[in-house]
Amino acid sequence: MGMRKGKQNFRCSFCGRDKSEALILVTGVEGHICEVCVEQAGEIVQEELYGKKKEKPREKFFLPERLTPVDIKGHLDQYVIGQDEAKKVLSVAVYNHYKRLSQHKQDEVEIEKSNILFVGQTGTGKTLLAKTIAKFLNVPFAIVDATVFTEAGYVGEDVESILSRLLQVCNYDVAAAERGIVYIDEIDKIARKTDNPSITRDVSGEGVQQAMLKMLEGTDVNVPPQGGRKHPEQKLVKVNTENILFICGGAFDGIEKIIARRINTQVIGFKSDDVNQIDRENLIQYVSHADLKRFGLIPELVGRLPVLTYLEPLGLETLKNILTEPKNSLIRQYKKLFELENIDLEFSEEAITLIAEKALEFNFGARGLRSICEAIMTDAMFELPSRRDVRKFTVDYAYALEKLSRSKLTQLRAA
Ligand code: ADP
Repeated sequence: MGMRKGKQNFRCSFCGRDKSEALILVTGVEGHICEVCVEQAGEIVQEELYGKKKEKPREKFFLPERLTPVDIKGHLDQYVIGQDEAKKVLSVAVYNHYKRLSQHKQDEVEIEKSNILFVGQTGTGKTLLAKTIAKFLNVPFAIVDATVFTEAGYVGEDVESILSRLLQVCNYDVAAAERGIVYIDEIDKIARKTDNPSITRDVSGEGVQQAMLKMLEGTDVNVPPQGGRKHPEQKLVKVNTENILFICGGAFDGIEKIIARRINTQVIGFKSDDVNQIDRENLIQYVSHADLKRFGLIPELVGRLPVLTYLEPLGLETLKNILTEPKNSLIRQYKKLFELENIDLEFSEEAITLIAEKALEFNFGARGLRSICEAIMTDAMFELPSRRDVRKFTVDYAYALEKLSRSKLTQLRAA
């Protein structure tokens, strides 16, 4: 009881707002100040000292000088293996996006927003790409899953809560959030279930798509800071999404069939050698906006994701490279862990091939690599720290195979 009473005494000493109404209450020696008064005080200081109003925060962000799309891709290359086309497209889109941010509003030619859509199987690097670019640009980054949303009135979260995550990761710094990047995963799961919109209106999917349109395009959104559904007691925070870059991703299972059908219709009447040039093993590279509409994304949504690219399924060699090459690759991480124990850890080439082969079998893309490595390494990580005599440890094919065959992973695959 006593504690509760103490809590209620916190008020902004400037405007008198109670702690429960303020988003942030900063405590000083004698009093407190809320975020609104901090902002206002900041503006007064700015005006008094520099004789001008504080710039609108969303016009303040610039890319590091002379940074080019080639530089951006060069950075992505350090963390993401393969996926050259996606990396190139992303680099250009991000470059243009932040150019647009530095553009003066009065310009006659207004550059449109370049939200991005990644199509590709699970575990091929969609999230990794989005995460890596955000980190590189040093902007707030949030990942949300489109499957948790349903139309207002149904069970689920409101689409506004996409921005709650973003606010949370930057400690409710609205200005920072307004130039952030949001990755919306599993966008394919809110597709309309049927091609023909007139048969049934599939509210759960189409409604969510409709609700997302304005946000993707750029508007003021009233965001519940704690996320979830709108709560009457929750004070809403206004976030402008004009300069937030949205990257959507999805596996779009079965889209190859749609692509194939479109291509087959198109090639009728062409010379036969044109037809032969089509790489039928990897149809995803031909994905188009038309295919996405066929799949069940509404045209308005597709229109707001103008930059479309694909991620290739990962082959054995790529998986092996993912294990060893990136700056923070799994193998490097294990080596580091053992190094901290003063143990020199090595993996044989054959062991690495085995891990990659198993990942390929599980069909989770690179996602499977982690659990396979864990299954192999757990015993060693458990025992070696108490073995002061061991200074070098090699994971070879036989060791890896033995650990794997004892693990629960093999049962997983059977399921
Ligand atoms: P997705 O979003 O496509 O389902 P993620 O980006 O979440 O896949 O990748 C899953 C895991 O696999 C992550 O740990 C990531 O580091 C790794 N990974 C996936 N693709 C690549 C790649 N092309 N290069 C390096 N690592 C990758």
